[in-house]
Amino acid sequence: MSFQTYADIIIDISNENLDKTYQYAVPEKYLTQAKIGAPVVVSFGKGNRQINGYIVGLSGEPKVEKSKIKPITEVVEGAPIIESHLIYLADWIKETFGGTMNDALKTVIPVRKAIKHKEEKTVSLTVDIEQAKLFYYEFQRKNNTARARLLEALIKEQTLDYEDVVHKLNISKSTLDGLEQLGITKTVAKQIYRNPIKQQEQAYRPVILNEEQRAITDQITKEYKAGNRAVYLIHGVTGSGKTEVYMEVIADVIAMGKQVILLIPEIALTYQTVLRFYKRFGDRVSILNSRMSQGERYDQSLRAKRGEIDLVIGPRSALFTPFLNLGLIVIDEEHETSYKSETTPKYHAVEVAVKRAELTNASVILGSATPSLESYRRAMTGEYKLFQLRKRAKEAIPPKVWIVDLREELKKKNKSIFSEKLKELIADRLAKKEQIMLFLNRRGYAGFVSCRSCGHVMKCPHCDVALTSHNNRKMVCHYCGYEEPHPSLCPTCGSKFIAAFGTGTQKVEELVRKEFPGARVLRMDTDTTKKKDSYGKILSAFASHQADILVGTQMIVKGHDFPLVTLVGIIAADLSLYVGDFRASERTFQLLCQAAGRAGRDVLPGEVVIQTYHPEHYSIVTAAKGDYESFYKQEMLYRKLMQYPPAAHMLLLLITSKNEESAIEASVHAGEAIKEMIGEQQIAAQMIGPATAGLAKANDYYRRVIYIKHEEYNTLIGIKDYLEGYLAYTQYYSDCSFQFDFDPMSSY
Ligand code: ADP
Ligand code: ZN
Ligand code: ZN
Repeated sequence: MSFQTYADIIIDISNENLDKTYQYAVPEKYLTQAKIGAPVVVSFGKGNRQINGYIVGLSGEPKVEKSKIKPITEVVEGAPIIESHLIYLADWIKETFGGTMNDALKTVIPVRKAIKHKEEKTVSLTVDIEQAKLFYYEFQRKNNTARARLLEALIKEQTLDYEDVVHKLNISKSTLDGLEQLGITKTVAKQIYRNPIKQQEQAYRPVILNEEQRAITDQITKEYKAGNRAVYLIHGVTGSGKTEVYMEVIADVIAMGKQVILLIPEIALTYQTVLRFYKRFGDRVSILNSRMSQGERYDQSLRAKRGEIDLVIGPRSALFTPFLNLGLIVIDEEHETSYKSETTPKYHAVEVAVKRAELTNASVILGSATPSLESYRRAMTGEYKLFQLRKRAKEAIPPKVWIVDLREELKKKNKSIFSEKLKELIADRLAKKEQIMLFLNRRGYAGFVSCRSCGHVMKCPHCDVALTSHNNRKMVCHYCGYEEPHPSLCPTCGSKFIAAFGTGTQKVEELVRKEFPGARVLRMDTDTTKKKDSYGKILSAFASHQADILVGTQMIVKGHDFPLVTLVGIIAADLSLYVGDFRASERTFQLLCQAAGRAGRDVLPGEVVIQTYHPEHYSIVTAAKGDYESFYKQEMLYRKLMQYPPAAHMLLLLITSKNEESAIEASVHAGEAIKEMIGEQQIAAQMIGPATAGLAKANDYYRRVIYIKHEEYNTLIGIKDYLEGYLAYTQYYSDCSFQFDFDPMSSY
């Protein structure tokens, strides 16, 4: 009896039920062509109607009685069409990042959902601009901030998308109604798909690229025209003109009849950014964002497939826009953690972009002021081509950075959270009526244990990451589970000032009010931004100088330009430096660079104060100088020494269950299975754990982790495949779920 191959076929990929597959037998003559992603024709239903489908899986096992399985009528030959290519990509994602084919297909293919079309509307001025300005001043004077905000936007652009007005500008319906009654604005239904900017307003004024920018665009375009495809990394400080470079290359690629995907982090998808692209590319741009419904996404993907647009801008998921003629993928701020999916399959957009580009003969441009170690390393080995933009495009003076040693403050008997230097500069700015941002580079309360006298931090002897304090009794490592009791005296200097380190934004706000009673203070963190429109409200209040000091977490450092901000204070740089995660130094370096970039963006020169117990730490020293190369060199030494990514690869298995005992037991058994497997196959992999996750319990689920390190990614894929098989066949852990994450971006 000959060996038979069976294929899982999906019939209608635009349907929500991507997991609904039908098994067909592969006739011998099609064995070589029957690959995942291949388009097929099959007989369907009682009448044996001939319909189109795609192969999404292959196996040697029939799922039903053999005699009931029909053969595939035909495997269609010819150029790969968009669906096959995306199904192939889904399969690659499943193999590379774990999870099921169904998870992967849902990620890659936008599905049709029965939706009612939302009426598309615009908001526009019914008065001329001069009059609008008068109203604007009037509303400002009356502290009618919402009305003023809308008018300000309408003065810049006379017609706005209704959705943008509601969601981006945070204008309520009653505010709109009010303005309409006053005869200042009107809301009208618009034709679907129309972009919000009127044709005549697209007057695009090109900037003259400087020499550095020109050299980059010339080379990329030259290589592109010569048919060479590559991955480029543009390393350039914020404001060095990366976006202008993207636009130039995008225009060239579009002119060659190709289509382009531009990924930007959700938080940077501001009206201003989007407007720059609308101005240059007009109606042929489409924006995706996470607030769009599945139906809206589906519409956009149809437009893309029909070739009605040339450029799609959006967050991670925009990567799967079904362009038939994709020529270029650009990823801005490529180091951002939001490019890694938090749900299975936990794919990284940069890696998927490189794969998709390879499949479609496209190029990739990555850009960042602080590239991820992964990307920079690839640039160093020549896998990516590196370009540098070394100066700001507009001649802004880089800020002056002060590093303050908090141990010295303690010696001077200053126990407040503000150093003498920071206090002095805050007072100075308040007197000059300039603005201040106080930045806490971590949400909530951090849990590492450190000495206020000498700065010593308690670390795991095995993993070289900070131990996390639990109830001020014991300290735990969240990679390997190592524990020890809290020390009462510092093991280095004998001081009794050793304790869990913790300061929250609320506490900082309280202390600012106490120390500077006259100052107007705003706070922005996860607590104050819970309500839907509070985020925009706080930012616009600060932008219109209704406050002197803005206290906040990372939320405040991304992408906002406040010309009056001339002082940025980082209260405790150590907060992100010792979070018990191997990427802590990298994250700190990025945050400090970003925060420093907030000061003195305009004509007024800026100053930055970094307070720390570790003024000598390389991530602080190099960030203060804006010296990425030195940071990279030092950090790579640590990653090599400890075999952390990108020096090696790391696979995480997360086990969750509502039943704590099950979670523990499953993690112990999975750990034993891994040990056995790597022992038998003599794989030089290192297993760490099982241990309780840093976040020990979330939404009533107990969380346990196991990490496996190895130099070869493929070896880890082998271990994952083995585990997926093992977990599928043990029936004991039906109350547990298992997730994989390769080279995790954040701590668990
Ligand atoms: P990045 O993306 O690196 O942060 P941008 O492209 O946004 O930088 O540029 C920062 C600012 O400088 C923008 O206002 C941009 O219009 C301006 N700019 C960029 N390049 C030039 C140039 N060659 N001449 C004049 N202005 C420029
Ligand atoms: Zn000490
Ligand atoms: Zn450890």
